[in-house]
Amino acid sequence: MLDLAYETPAPKVIAGAKQDWELVIGLEVHAQVASNAKLFSGASTTFGAEPNSNVAFVDAAMPGMLPVINEYCVEQAVRTGLGLKAEINLFSAFDRKNYFYPDLPQGYQISQLYHPIVGEGEVLVDMAPGVARRVRIERIHLEQDAGKSIHDMDPNMSFVDLNRTGVALMEIVSRPDIRGPEEAAAYVVKLRQILRYLGTCDGNMQNGNLRADVNVSICKPGDYERYQETGDHSVLGTRCEIKNMNSMRFIQQAIEYEARRQIRIVEGGETVDQETRLYDPDKGETRSMRSKEEAHDYRYFPCPDLLPLEIEQAWVDGIAASLPELPDAKKARFVQDFGMTEYDAGVLTADTESAAFFEDVARGRDGKQAANWVINELFGRLKKEDHGITESPMSAEQLGGILDLIAKGDISGKIAKDLFEIVYTEGGDPAEIVEARGMKQVTDTGAIEAAVDEIIAANPNQVAKAQQNPKLAGWFVGQVMKATGGKANPKAVNELVSAKLGL
Ligand code: ADP
Ligand code: MG
Repeated sequence: MLDLAYETPAPKVIAGAKQDWELVIGLEVHAQVASNAKLFSGASTTFGAEPNSNVAFVDAAMPGMLPVINEYCVEQAVRTGLGLKAEINLFSAFDRKNYFYPDLPQGYQISQLYHPIVGEGEVLVDMAPGVARRVRIERIHLEQDAGKSIHDMDPNMSFVDLNRTGVALMEIVSRPDIRGPEEAAAYVVKLRQILRYLGTCDGNMQNGNLRADVNVSICKPGDYERYQETGDHSVLGTRCEIKNMNSMRFIQQAIEYEARRQIRIVEGGETVDQETRLYDPDKGETRSMRSKEEAHDYRYFPCPDLLPLEIEQAWVDGIAASLPELPDAKKARFVQDFGMTEYDAGVLTADTESAAFFEDVARGRDGKQAANWVINELFGRLKKEDHGITESPMSAEQLGGILDLIAKGDISGKIAKDLFEIVYTEGGDPAEIVEARGMKQVTDTGAIEAAVDEIIAANPNQVAKAQQNPKLAGWFVGQVMKATGGKANPKAVNELVSAKLGL
């Protein structure tokens, strides 16, 4: 596999009233496992179903019901671990995290505290071409999601929807290696991209299928490097955790606000309390949800209903062998094989559909030109209508057909753009359209020569001017192009105009 070289970005520095401060950030991302059935029941995970219609007896915690592990969810967690270059633990186990909440009928969440299924891995977070932060993953564990309490449907009552109860989540825990608000958002973007490539989570943040708890602390310049060298957490500041963030923009705003709040506290001679906070996007501030003193004692203990999860290396190897090409590798390959910039490769590999579309266009053609047309023309056009690549009315075959006509010299770049618009809006085979509408480029020098002669004869003043100032020859070229409806071969026109004007 290829790797692109990268430099590490500078950490964000915030100037306080007294000194400069740096940020230290670690994320706990909850990603809903892409699976038709829940983690311990056969109930459906379909989003937006009628409330309480996707609930098995075990999800509703009916007495005597026992959880049965969904092998596919385990496979998805292993696939995710492998995609994050992580260690896979052949032995893992489930624990009960006890707490009461109306949307949690069991009275506990089944999670993996002591023996997570996935150990240490990493994510390379792209900040700019050639600039990336390596963020270490501490662990990934499997756990159940809770249901949903609805408080805003009735002034006097709350409702509970258990459709989500028991759906499999992967909690992906990073080390505190993220050094600024933009990096935090970029980390979530990259993680989501990898999960989507792997097909292990759809990454839909609006539906709550991907959400992050964001841990933020501040430190003095140099402290973080000391932590990196020694692994000693105590040189870092006290962190606050901002719960349940499901927007890249809010993640950045919340971190920025939270860092400034902590700086004010520390510079004022007080200490930051370790607590859980909520971000209020309307006010643009975080506020305390619960402090460490009020923190729950979850009384974790091994779940007696489930045997430890033991998987075989051969099974893991089979999953590893079926992994798709992942974003970093694909990007590096695009740079290497097609000679495109890392920026363009990043755009084309943002999702697998765009990458596959591009590769279909580029196959057997000039890769750089294909990249240009896909990014500048097609993506630009799609964006106008707020469409993604999967909604493109133009197929890779059609776009490739346009490029073939340019390569053969049948149409000029300018006509190609007109043709692009026709194919995009009306559909059809590019070569047939060019034929039917007489859009073929005129390469017949005789016809071009006649047009040049005619324009030179009709404009003696311009001829005199151009002979003094050869730059004005462009005017003749423009006239000839106009006279031929843009179909004259521009190179031939240029040559003929220069020759006839004696330049
Ligand atoms: P706990 O054991 O209390 O759950 P962890 O060490 O597991 O704490 O950390 C939970 C999350 O907090 C991780 O994502 C980690 O990266 C992050 N974190 C830990 N220490 C800090 C810190 N000083 N500043 C910011 N984030 C931190
Ligand atoms: Mg922890």
